[in-house]
Amino acid sequence: MGQTLTEKILEDHLVEGELETGEEIGIEIDQVLTQDTTGTMVWLQFEAMGLDEVQTEIAAQYCDHQTYQFDFKNTDDHRFLRSAAGTYGAHFSRPGNGICHNVHRENFAAPGKTLLGSDSHTPTPGGLGELAIGAGGIDVTVAMGGAPYYIEMPEIVNVRLEGELPEWATAKDVILEMLRRLSVKGGVGKILEYTGPGVETLTAPERMTITNMGTELGATTSIFPTDEQTEDYLERVGRGDEYVEIQPDEDAEYDDEIVVDLSDLEPLIAQPSMPDNVVPVSEVAGEDVEQVIVGSCTNGGYEDILPVAKMLEGRETSMETETIVAPGSKQASEMLAREGWVAEMMAAGVNFSEATCGACIGIGHVPASDSVSLRTFNRNFEGRSGIEDDNVYLCSPEVAAAAAIKGEIIDPRDLEEEEEDLEAPGVELPEEYDGSKTDLIAPDEAVDDELIKGPNIGDVPIRDQLSADVEGEALLKMEDNITTDHIIPATQDILMYRSNVPKLSEFTLSRVDDTFAERALDADGGFLVAGENYGQGSSREHAALCPMYLGIEAVLAQSFARIHRANLFNFGIVPLTIDEDTYESIDQGDEIEIVDDVYEAVTSGQEEFTVRVGDDEFTATLDASERERDILAAGGKLAWTREQAEGAS
Ligand code: SF4
Repeated sequence: MGQTLTEKILEDHLVEGELETGEEIGIEIDQVLTQDTTGTMVWLQFEAMGLDEVQTEIAAQYCDHQTYQFDFKNTDDHRFLRSAAGTYGAHFSRPGNGICHNVHRENFAAPGKTLLGSDSHTPTPGGLGELAIGAGGIDVTVAMGGAPYYIEMPEIVNVRLEGELPEWATAKDVILEMLRRLSVKGGVGKILEYTGPGVETLTAPERMTITNMGTELGATTSIFPTDEQTEDYLERVGRGDEYVEIQPDEDAEYDDEIVVDLSDLEPLIAQPSMPDNVVPVSEVAGEDVEQVIVGSCTNGGYEDILPVAKMLEGRETSMETETIVAPGSKQASEMLAREGWVAEMMAAGVNFSEATCGACIGIGHVPASDSVSLRTFNRNFEGRSGIEDDNVYLCSPEVAAAAAIKGEIIDPRDLEEEEEDLEAPGVELPEEYDGSKTDLIAPDEAVDDELIKGPNIGDVPIRDQLSADVEGEALLKMEDNITTDHIIPATQDILMYRSNVPKLSEFTLSRVDDTFAERALDADGGFLVAGENYGQGSSREHAALCPMYLGIEAVLAQSFARIHRANLFNFGIVPLTIDEDTYESIDQGDEIEIVDDVYEAVTSGQEEFTVRVGDDEFTATLDASERERDILAAGGKLAWTREQAEGAS
């Protein structure tokens, strides 16, 4: 039987297990990336493990989420990250140089390689044929130390693309269509492998818009085969020699197939406040728009901004609409500036902004209360923009530019009829991506050779071995689809404490219940109860680390999002699955007891646990591999890795 593209790369990197769906496999990691909100903990853990030097081919530390240096805290973090990269041998991308995924794809992403990143949109270079997976920071730390990354072998789904995109339909509409069909849970436990005749009609950057937002489907990763388009892109970024051809075999067998005819697509838009709430733009046309933002790791490339610049050339943006353009990398800004496009956009009324995540996580450009903001980003979870009553829509750069001109949501095909000389800009790659590299410091140019820690950088908390008795209060009962943004909000006033766990923990789940952190600390142990898809969204390990610090011992949920589930194991919190009836039976404040000896049950491979709530008893399930059970029993991955190292010495 032939192999899929995914199987070929996995087989090439396999160090443990067999490529059978559901089996745990260990794979070698070639490249790692981390960013500033997750990176401080990555390096503090690297230090705590006593590791000397990065072992992967490439390790890259980016500063992109909190580039604004409001006071000493972010600046101290950035200095610490630079010192850690220098000390341990990683590349360092300075604040302002751009978003990790954009800078990584320009400089390091390569076909056939494996990449592990402590950011949920790490799958972006899947569009270049790299097998790229988002993970918790501690997984990245361990991989960076040369250990394999373990994962349950996902199902592999063939997403067959046919036809060709019509005018005004874009790569963003391909992934919005996938979200419309499959929902934010549709990719869970799956790798989406794109095939079919439509693939060759998409440039590599367009493919990377699609793989980037596969994260919103909950997919482990998404990947495209490599071909002339891949080679062409690598040549333009000056790395043509890194091209290798990787295609699935013709008789490859997939677990499932989805067919998307590109020719049928039209401009789509995700309505507030979920990325899968997708409708044709024409259905919401006429809605007044107060803010438009073009940028992010999804649509912040040179090729994404250029169509906006072309549409705005010689025009003016609406007086009622604030229009912001924030490219994904400084290289894109520099190239657009040299070609005169930045001046064109500014003349049209654009507020041209720094290459940063910024507004995507509510840091800067927060929309006015109860207003509509149209963004080319990948997420629109309620409150992520920095204000609770936001109305954030997600769309392509072309739809965003049309709204900026009109001041309201409009299908760009209708605007084309209204506006003289407006035509679909299409996709155009530059001859050469020739921005300067001054903000990317290679290990052999490192500025520091020892760690520099400011006063806001604390120690890494480590949990004790798992207890036999787990009992306590249901401290918080939550609904379905709780995101890591709910657990630890990513806004500036909160995330600046990312290196100071005791302080950051005070904000845990404050968006759900602002008394939670205090109650949890007082209770000294207890449970979280949640519905489906608990912990969806970013890879933020603080969303497990802070509950651990507050004493949470177990989460009872109907289902867990992949990365967050792994993070719960990594920080010694027991993730137990319950059915809907059990969920309905538990009220916040109930006293809960796990009847079994939990340490014994976890280490002996027991799957079903008896949970007592008042006079009633229910069954909860622990679906975990032997390795995950060992990690949980040890009190988390840091304690477990230390145990392993001590055992080996
Ligand atoms: Fe940055 Fe937003 Fe992309 Fe995350 S999703 S890497 S915050 S631009």
